[in-house]
Amino acid sequence: MAVPYAELTFGGWYLRGGLGTLADALLTRCLDLGVVVQTGTTVTRIDAAGGRVTGVRLAGAAAPAPADVVVANVDALTVYRDLLPSPRRLAGLTDRSLAGFVLLLGVAGDSGLAHHNVFFPGDHDAEFDAVFGDPGRGVRARPAVDPTVFVTVADDPMVRPDGHEAWFVLVNAARHGTATSAVDWRRPGLAEAYADRILDVLAERGVDVRDRLLFREIRTPADLDAATGAPGGTIYGTAGGLLRPANRGPAHGLFLVGGSSHPGGGLPMVTLSAQIVAEEIGPAW
Ligand SMILES: Cc1cc2nc3c(=O)[nH]c(=O)nc-3n(C[C@H](O)[C@H](O)[C@H](O)COP(=O)(O)OP(=O)(O)OC[C@H]3O[C@@H](n4cnc5c(N)ncnc54)[C@H](O)[C@@H]3O)c2cc1C
Repeated sequence: MAVPYAELTFGGWYLRGGLGTLADALLTRCLDLGVVVQTGTTVTRIDAAGGRVTGVRLAGAAAPAPADVVVANVDALTVYRDLLPSPRRLAGLTDRSLAGFVLLLGVAGDSGLAHHNVFFPGDHDAEFDAVFGDPGRGVRARPAVDPTVFVTVADDPMVRPDGHEAWFVLVNAARHGTATSAVDWRRPGLAEAYADRILDVLAERGVDVRDRLLFREIRTPADLDAATGAPGGTIYGTAGGLLRPANRGPAHGLFLVGGSSHPGGGLPMVTLSAQIVAEEIGPAW
């Protein structure tokens, strides 16, 4: 109920040009403060000795990069399982959380939709039964035939030419993988067929854009995994339930931040976790 409360009380706010402008603004602020930002570089390991972090290893670099403090916003599961010198298990880390199937549509004309639109299915339970499957009974996860469809259409000339619309379409989806609770989104033809199905669902619910499409781009959970390192393309982190991994990591000087750690996923929570980590680091270093 916190989200409807905040929206009704304080209103919904939109960044002209889209959310990417927030990242641009953060980058500008960091550069102004003298931060050196290095993108396109994979951290392959977090080094620790004697219970405290000593730095990180970068792919392709001859020598480790030394550091007193390491703040990781990779998924907590990846930090604990893959990046620390010896893999660790953390209670509550599961691999069954939700991913998303995304369509980015260029649409000709005016659909008359609101900024945010939710098209509900007849049977919500059936949707989630499909998305999560039932591994205990051997029932595989699968793309929901009749899912909830979230459509965002920003009335913003910075994101579309006149007389056109830029649609962001999101559908709950099983994470990518080969386990019973996952879907192999790289299966040939699956993504295209499911994109067609989503457009059919929208048409069935009264909004048919199939003959007004200028282009469509598909982002499956497998694509999200590849782009962000979130295992299986999970949107809300791999930790199940409300108790997220703590912001203090298992070695002194290691901090976890972002959607998979405390307090949780979504940009407001991610920013709060950054604030918590900044305050934790502040007095100690
Ligand atoms: C389709 C979709 C829709 C969403 N909708 C909303 C919404 O409406 N509202 C909302 O609030 N939130 C939404 N979210 C969630 C929100 O995007 C996330 O909670 C947030 O981006 C998490 O931020 P983060 O910094 O933890 O991780 P990310 O934004 O995933 O950033 C992690 C970064 O780490 C990099 N990385 C990964 N591994 C390594 C490595 N080994 N070395 C170096 N770099 C690495 C990745 O490339 C990436 O840049 C949505 C997410 C998705 C996928």
